[in-house]
Amino acid sequence: MKILVINAGSSSLKYQLIDMDNKLVMAKGLCERIGIEGSRLKHTPAGRDSVVIESPMPTHADAITLVISSLTDSENGVISSMSEIGAVGHRVVHGGESFSESVVIDEKVKEGIRGCIELAPLHNPANLIGIEACEKVMPGVPQVAVFDTAFHQTMPQKAYLYGLPYEYYQKYKIRRYGFHGTSHKYVSGRAAEMLNRPLSELRVVTCHLGNGSSVAAIDHGRVVDTSMGLTPLAGVIMGTRCGDIDPAIVTFLMEKEGLDPKAMDAVMNKQSGVLGVSGVSSDFRDLGAAAENGDSRAKAALDMFYYSVKKYVGAYAAVMGGIDALVFTAGVGENNAACRAAVTDGLEYMGVKIDPELNKQRGEMEISAPGAAVHTLVIPTDEEMMIALDAQRLTK
Ligand code: ADP
Repeated sequence: MKILVINAGSSSLKYQLIDMDNKLVMAKGLCERIGIEGSRLKHTPAGRDSVVIESPMPTHADAITLVISSLTDSENGVISSMSEIGAVGHRVVHGGESFSESVVIDEKVKEGIRGCIELAPLHNPANLIGIEACEKVMPGVPQVAVFDTAFHQTMPQKAYLYGLPYEYYQKYKIRRYGFHGTSHKYVSGRAAEMLNRPLSELRVVTCHLGNGSSVAAIDHGRVVDTSMGLTPLAGVIMGTRCGDIDPAIVTFLMEKEGLDPKAMDAVMNKQSGVLGVSGVSSDFRDLGAAAENGDSRAKAALDMFYYSVKKYVGAYAAVMGGIDALVFTAGVGENNAACRAAVTDGLEYMGVKIDPELNKQRGEMEISAPGAAVHTLVIPTDEEMMIALDAQRLTK
């Protein structure tokens, strides 16, 4: 069975065609500037050079049509006809409280996704457009929605409610939802496979550390807490997002700097984080280089990042009464040995100890020191594969 995985943004659309028989990506690509001048598609068949097609794409349906024709093209294609695609898996950012798992899309599901637009005004409308474009271009092919929030829906009320008047939860659904759920689910599942134990027997902390970062506590297979909240702004300090701050700072700064809500939102989402603290960059490679050259603010930003991740690891160990596995994933978690060393430094008391030599390696691996009670693992995330697995499971 072949599954097309779609991640639709407001003016872009990423895709991967995955052959589920051998779990290999057959082709992937990206449509950019949909609906605006200069639309282009970059298509990469596995093991071959990318091709760039410059062609007008006034709508997402035009983009999907072009994706299908690239996938079936006699020269750069990887399948002979659209009928080889068994299902489409869509990444949907917000499922609110309506979706605690992936679902086959029908009118009711689309209504539910529409109902969550207020919670993700930038993402859910684009995800819906992607779904409707596929329905139009590929009638009869089952479509599956996979939500970033779904895996976290198992959190108990004490973890998801905020200390605000309860009526705001009732009126506006203000609560912790958590994000990167597809990634946390994938890497926790892989961790169990690597350790040859059922996930239902393990207490796992997963650290998805990239431009956006989140940490999750997964107790016997169920998320019991996660660092992101109503939006992906909460939790650890990130590339450009502030993470957890005293909420009183928001009104203080709005008054002092004369910022309206939109401007304050931009400060917290785009001008803060390690970029805001360092004044150097949001990219952890740049920060590492600057810190090595003696830039004290870059070093401070990195220290803050490591410290905030470590605090969540400790908090979640407390929540679960200890941990069996600690997982690092995403751009920084997978590639940055200094980050893993700093986060795990001094955690021997709770059984976490890494081997400095193993920590220098790359790829999927266990980096625990011999005899460490906790398995520390590096697992490259694969959200597309997780989406494809769910789409296959639900449509087989
Ligand atoms: P996003 O949240 O955008 O998906 P990623 O998971 O791709 O982010 O992570 C991007 C971050 O990963 C960047 O800060 C980058 O510096 C870091 N990163 C990527 N590759 C490396 C590497 N080889 N060494 C160190 N850091 C890396």
